[in-house]
Amino acid sequence: MLLKDPSLLRQQCYINGKWCDAQSKETVAIANPATGAVIASVPVMGQAETQAAIAAAEEALPAWRALTAKERGAKLRRWFELLNENSDDLALMMTTEQGKPLAEAKGEVTYAASFIEWFAEEAKRVYGDTIPGHQGDKRIMVIKQPVGVTAAITPWNFPAAMITRKAAPALAAGCTMVVKPAPQTPFTALALAVLAERAGIPAGVFSVITGDAIGIGNEMCSNPVVRKLSFTGSTQVGIKLMEQCAPTLKKLSLELGGNAPFIVFDDANIDAAVEGAMIAKYRNAGQTCVCANRIYVQAGVYDEFARKLSIAVGKLKVGEGIGEGVTTGPLINRAAVEKVQSHLEDALSKGATVVAGGKPHSLGGNFFEPTVLTHVDSSMRVAREETFGPLAPLFKFTDVDDVIKQANDTEFGLAAYFYGRDISLVWKVAEALEYGMVGVNTGLISTEVAPFGGMKSSGLGREGSKYGIEEYLEIKYICMSV
Ligand code: ADP
Repeated sequence: MLLKDPSLLRQQCYINGKWCDAQSKETVAIANPATGAVIASVPVMGQAETQAAIAAAEEALPAWRALTAKERGAKLRRWFELLNENSDDLALMMTTEQGKPLAEAKGEVTYAASFIEWFAEEAKRVYGDTIPGHQGDKRIMVIKQPVGVTAAITPWNFPAAMITRKAAPALAAGCTMVVKPAPQTPFTALALAVLAERAGIPAGVFSVITGDAIGIGNEMCSNPVVRKLSFTGSTQVGIKLMEQCAPTLKKLSLELGGNAPFIVFDDANIDAAVEGAMIAKYRNAGQTCVCANRIYVQAGVYDEFARKLSIAVGKLKVGEGIGEGVTTGPLINRAAVEKVQSHLEDALSKGATVVAGGKPHSLGGNFFEPTVLTHVDSSMRVAREETFGPLAPLFKFTDVDDVIKQANDTEFGLAAYFYGRDISLVWKVAEALEYGMVGVNTGLISTEVAPFGGMKSSGLGREGSKYGIEEYLEIKYICMSV
C-alpha cells in the first residue's frame, strides 16, 4: 500500500491523545480480503485499556463541553477538511483492508466527511424551548446538554462513515467518545484518529481502541461512566449489547440488520428500476445493511426486468478493488462467501433458476459472481435472511396489497425501495411499508442530511440529519419561580 502520507498507517491505538501498544504487547495481523496478504498489525487491547480510555474521556469531558458550539464546530470543520485533503490515502487504505473498489472507497470518504461537516454546523443549532408557565409565578425553560461520555462499536462494511456518523454528532453536542472499530478494518479508524489529532481535537475527546471485541464491549457496556452506546452491526450482537447495557441503563442507538424489499410495479420506468437495483443490490458487493435483499417484480414487467438486470449484472467487473474499472470487490471473508453460497444452493434446490452468475468467481478466494435468480418463492432462505452478498432473488407478484404484506413480513424494518409512477400507489405503498427509510424511484437513500435508521429488529434511533444530534443530548427542564 503506497500512501502519500505513510504516517496515516498506525499500528498503535489512540487513547487519551497518545499512541499506545496493548499492555500485553500482543498484536494481531490484518489481511487484505482480496489477496489474503498481511497489511500490518494492530494491538490486541481489552478491558484494562478500555477502562483507561473511558477514564480519559471522562476527564476530557468538562473542558470539551464547556467550549462554545462554534469552537467545537471549528475543530470538527478542520477534521472534515483533513479527511478530504487525505481522501486518496484513506480510500486506498479502506480498499486494502475492506475490499471495496477504489471509486466506492473514495465515495465513502466523501460521505464520511459529510457527517463531520454537517454536525460541525449543527452544533450551533442545539436550540431549547420556553414554555408558558403552569402558574402565574412560574417560568419554564428547556435546555439541551451533552449526555456525557459515549462509546461506539462499528462494523467493517463502512470503515470510515460508520465512525464519523457517530463521532461527529457526539463531539458536536459536547460529548466525548471511545470507538471500537471492526476487527477487519482498524486502519481506517486509526487514520481518522490521526486526523482528529491533527485537527486539534483535545486528548481524550476521541479515542480508538482495537482488540478483543468481547473484553472491550463488556467494559463499554458495564462501565457506569459511559452514558450512551452507539452500535452498528448485526441484530444478534445489538440485542446482546442492549442486555449488557441494561444494568447501567445507558442510552442506546442501534443500527442493525435489514432485509430490504425492492418492489417494481408494472408502471415503473424499468430502465430506471434496473439502474436503482444495481446500486441497491450490488454496491459494496451487496454488503450493506440497506442492500436490496428481496426483489419483487410485478408480473407484467417481470421478464423484461429480469432480462435487463441480467445484462447490467453481466457488465460488472469483479476483481481486486484497486484494479482499473473494477466494480465488485471480494466479500469480506470466507464465511461471507459461504453464506451466499448456501443461500444460492437452498434456492436452487427449491426450484430457482440462475440467469446471471451463480457460482464463486474464477478468481477464487473471497470473490463471488454477481448473481441473479428467477423463479424464487417465499419458502427459500433468501426471503427471510439477509444474504449480505451479490445475489439478487427476483420474486414475482400480481397484487399490490399482497406485495406490501410480503414486504412487511419480516422482523426487520430498515430500508425499502419501490419503483412506480401512479401517484396514489406511490403514497399508499410509501405509507404502508414498515421501514425507517423508503426510496421511491431511487436505489440510493443515504445522505448526511436525512435521518438514517430502522424500525422493529433493525434498531433504535436515527443517525445523520437534524435528528442525529438529539441522540447525544439530554433534555433538561428548568422551572423557575419569579
Ligand atoms: P458482522 O457479522 O457484520 O461482523 P457484528 O455484529 O458481529 O457484525 O460486528 C459488528 C461490530 O460488533 C464489530 O466491531 C464487532 O467486533 C463487534 N462485536 C461483535 N460481537 C461483540 C460483542 N460480544 N461485544 C462487543 N462487540 C462485539
